[in-house]
Amino acid sequence: MALSAGGVRMDEVLSENAQKVKEQLNALIELQSWDDEINRRRSHIGQLNDKIQAEKQSLAGQRETLEVNKQELDHLLKNRREAEVTSKEKVEQAQKLGGQLFEIKTNEAYQTLQGEIRQKKQENTWLEERILEMMVAEDEVKSKISQAENALRQGEQDVAGTQAGYQKEIQSLETEITAFEQKWETAAQKVKPEYLNQYRRLLAAKGGRAMAKIENDICMGCRLSIRAQATIELKKYRTLLYCNNCARILYSD
Ligand SMILES: [Zn+2]
Repeated sequence: MALSAGGVRMDEVLSENAQKVKEQLNALIELQSWDDEINRRRSHIGQLNDKIQAEKQSLAGQRETLEVNKQELDHLLKNRREAEVTSKEKVEQAQKLGGQLFEIKTNEAYQTLQGEIRQKKQENTWLEERILEMMVAEDEVKSKISQAENALRQGEQDVAGTQAGYQKEIQSLETEITAFEQKWETAAQKVKPEYLNQYRRLLAAKGGRAMAKIENDICMGCRLSIRAQATIELKKYRTLLYCNNCARILYSD
């Protein structure tokens, strides 16, 4: 508490008008303190919502990867079925040609037919090798799918847990905000409408800080020097003072 030289409280020597200005200033400082509490919680809620979104996106990414793997498996299976059909055809063709060998009259025609049969058999061997390769690739993709499914299931469980936690935290922050808003309303009733409008405009325009404290002739709102006289004028409570630079309402301890 500031004391005069004679031990008289400074409040008692302030004029009636100065008392009113001081009350207004104190109420505005109180509003700012509730707005600080509210803004801190809103920003916290924003961070929690960001986390919720990030987790949802991460799950969506996992689902997408799983889908891509499943499509790859479908593609491999389709190719293998086609190769198996062609392989069966080659075998049948080779058998059919083999049956014709007995009807051949000339040695030259016999050689040609045997060449065709070898060709069909060779093609079938290549197909069988391809089929084996595809089966190996299918196993790899199946294993990736199974891992991705397990990871997704685990991820969904984890996210369900953390999201429930985040939601609970958000609810509790919102309850606190409502309580601070009530305190704000009570304090706002003490402030003249003209000052309240100024305060609201500044709060919106100045990143949630309508009030600025003076420390060592520096405005803590914009960190710039203010005229030295301002600190002295402030103590006289003639009127509200504003920072020449950032326009915030000034106060000091
Ligand atoms: Zn300033």
